[in-house]
Amino acid sequence: MRLLLVTGGSGFIGSNFIRFFLSRNKNFIIVNMDKLTYASDLNNLKDLENSPRYHFIKGDICNREFVDYVLRKYRPGLIVNFAAESDMDRSIGHPSLFAETNIMGTLALLESARFIWSRNSFAGNCFLQVSTGAVYGSLDKERSAFTEESPLLPSNPFSSSKAGADMMIRAFSSTFKLPAIITRCCNNYGPCQRTDNFIPHCITCALTDQPIRVFGDGSHSREWMHVRDHCIALTRTLFYGKAGETYNIGTGHEISNLNLAEKILKLTGKPQSMVRFTADKSSHEMRYLLDSSKARKKLGWSNKVNIDEGLADTIKWYRENRDSMRQD
Ligand code: NAD
Repeated sequence: MRLLLVTGGSGFIGSNFIRFFLSRNKNFIIVNMDKLTYASDLNNLKDLENSPRYHFIKGDICNREFVDYVLRKYRPGLIVNFAAESDMDRSIGHPSLFAETNIMGTLALLESARFIWSRNSFAGNCFLQVSTGAVYGSLDKERSAFTEESPLLPSNPFSSSKAGADMMIRAFSSTFKLPAIITRCCNNYGPCQRTDNFIPHCITCALTDQPIRVFGDGSHSREWMHVRDHCIALTRTLFYGKAGETYNIGTGHEISNLNLAEKILKLTGKPQSMVRFTADKSSHEMRYLLDSSKARKKLGWSNKVNIDEGLADTIKWYRENRDSMRQD
């Protein structure tokens, strides 16, 4: 059996990844280390509680001593780091918490991995940093898409802290030859996402007949990926990615926030008049779009779930999981 350490696996993407990865890779055990912040939910992985191939351990990636203990005890060959403060709006009020968790926490993991893995000259090891396309900042109307070579121009404390973590990964990769890879994905949606994110907000409001909040005039545009496609991309990166490389993961399809809200209202059979426009925030990027041709070519990955299917699947999940419909 091989051992994979996942950090932040009790959150949205981490929990989807653990379930997906274990179902596809029967020769792996996963240890999930999570601090259990407000953003986590142990119910996300309740079905795996009794699995001999899944272990949960409560812990903070910023606590170097504890991280050392976990790495010594379980000896993971692979690490996937999802653990992060991930809510951009919250980062405006708590910049130091974001810097501490996202930069210093990643650094503690890297130092510990370097210390333990270097004894074996990093043989068979890989540290996968789950970063975000938000590190590139906002895309001009004239430009087509961000590539992995685009400059990092983050525009809020959240994206800046993730860019800082990416820089640490680069440093450990080039200075210490630690085998590390960065993925930068576009916005995700799907089961188990908190309702303060845009798509779950639209779905839960539509299902409970409450107004849907759309910032500005709704023209902000993004790519939206079903979390399952992201999980496939991360799995392929772990097995086929090259140490020291960065891979953008995007769908290639832009959609404005207003169009997305309208799609969700249509799919739930609710009137378009439920949209309420509210004042925009300066920290919101107007537009982002990723060029993910490198991941498609080098990892043999492609996104499979189109937005209509993905939204229908997500709406079904929220209908069946009414407890998750609390508006935060
Ligand atoms: P999330 O907020 O749902 O989950 C984060 C998890 O990390 C939670 O379970 C939380 O308890 C845990 N955590 C926070 N601080 C911790 C610490 N100090 N030690 C251990 N665990 C800690 O986030 P998510 O949406 O699942 O995103 C996961 C990762 O993917 C993040 O790094 C995020 O930047 C990245 N990402 C997210 C998206 C998206 O659209 N959600 C897109 C691209 C990349």
